[in-house]
Amino acid sequence: MKIFHVLVIPYPAQGHVIPLMELARRLTSNGIKVTFINTEYRVVSTSENDPSDLLQMVSVPDGMEPWEDRNDFIRLIESLYQVMPTKLEELIKSINKNEDENITWIITDYAMGMVARVAQKMGIRLATFCSGSAAFMTLIMSVQKLLDNEVIDSNGVPLKDEMVQLSTTMPPMDPAKFTWVCIGDTATNEVVFRKIILDGKEAGEVADHILCNSTMELEPGAFTLFPKMLPVGPLLATNRLKKQAGQFWKEDSTCVTWLDQQPVCSVIYVAFGSFTVFTQSQFDELAFGLELTNKPFLWVIRPGVNGSTDYVFPTGYMNKVGNRGKIVSWAPQQEVLTHPSVACFISHCGWNSTMEGVSNGVPFLCWPYFADQFLNTTYVCDIWKTGLPLIKDDLGIVTREEIKSKVEKLLSDNIAKQSASNLQEKAMESLQAGNPSNKNLSNFIDWVKQGNDNAPAKNAF
Ligand code: UDP
Repeated sequence: MKIFHVLVIPYPAQGHVIPLMELARRLTSNGIKVTFINTEYRVVSTSENDPSDLLQMVSVPDGMEPWEDRNDFIRLIESLYQVMPTKLEELIKSINKNEDENITWIITDYAMGMVARVAQKMGIRLATFCSGSAAFMTLIMSVQKLLDNEVIDSNGVPLKDEMVQLSTTMPPMDPAKFTWVCIGDTATNEVVFRKIILDGKEAGEVADHILCNSTMELEPGAFTLFPKMLPVGPLLATNRLKKQAGQFWKEDSTCVTWLDQQPVCSVIYVAFGSFTVFTQSQFDELAFGLELTNKPFLWVIRPGVNGSTDYVFPTGYMNKVGNRGKIVSWAPQQEVLTHPSVACFISHCGWNSTMEGVSNGVPFLCWPYFADQFLNTTYVCDIWKTGLPLIKDDLGIVTREEIKSKVEKLLSDNIAKQSASNLQEKAMESLQAGNPSNKNLSNFIDWVKQGNDNAPAKNAF
């Protein structure tokens, strides 16, 4: 019997693997077989057995030594470029020996743009997936325009300091905050621009479809500008009443029991995704700021590179906050954000965290760290008005007073909460039958089931 088989290839970072794993689950629950690529040393668990048995995890080497730092973008990207195309080709050839199961579609992360060339070389249909906002993908797709208009130079470095608006219905963007300018040092930014962004653009151009973890209602401007981009979000395990899969770290579920004991709408949830790093003095200010709010808080402090927490709490801190503060090293975040006790989310505004907060009507305090998080903060604070920014002082620190006063402002003023509830309703509506995200996803599933036949490349809208 012919099996429809899709190869799914995430960039090996937490915020890329989780939504692609969720997309993979949608495919397997519709009878499509998925081979999901892990890189060694960033192997993820599927958290629950796939009831259909259609999800197959395959690990390929990332070309780095076990002890090397996978947060070193230059090293990781160059290494992936060296090993990935050949390894994928070998893998596909070996899978395709069984004609009934041959791979007819590849879904590649935009950040693994080199995969597009493998798909083209092997004559396999391609969808490119964007784990960031549609506005971010629009920015990538507009790079040639930015080069032509001398907004950036050939290394992605901004040449102008005026705000850029890609269309009148899109958020204004500050070139100094373009994603590739906010990664690390100049050399890192350049490698990210030349490899991830330029190849991401190519992968977007040659793909049959670009799938975005977003909704038409959240980002109408971006989707209208590039109708090839199809909103299929929000892709969340909680939409299926299932546990999130694809975690790099073990979730500490004791925080859910702790949340059960807190009053409704009282808890500040504090989490900064998988990359954010603080200085010790910034960590101290955050600790004191949370203490000053006098509210219960759930704070995720991710293990450091050595497997332990790299930060030291101020003396006597844990005794002072007692049971009012719950600290975990990794939370079941989607479950946390659905919990009625959560009042607001202090977040770095990674796109997944943003979508998860939006989908649960939770207002934000935004503390962007790098990459596209500044753009996402613009959406939250300026466009959707579902949150407030935490502002750094002259020394680049978000002070304890700033944290206390913004928490008070956010929670006393009903506007952000109300806007968050309205936005939640709109975002979730798009998953209803007949609405854009639902329609695009089911169209995509139909196209996959047509194998290599020509599929109509059009948006549901
Ligand atoms: N996450 C989680 N537990 C945590 C912190 C984060 O499960 O304690 C998940 C979160 O739900 C999100 C992902 O990790 O799906 C982080 O992605 P995001 O785009 O927000 O940030 P990044 O890690 O890419 O900076």
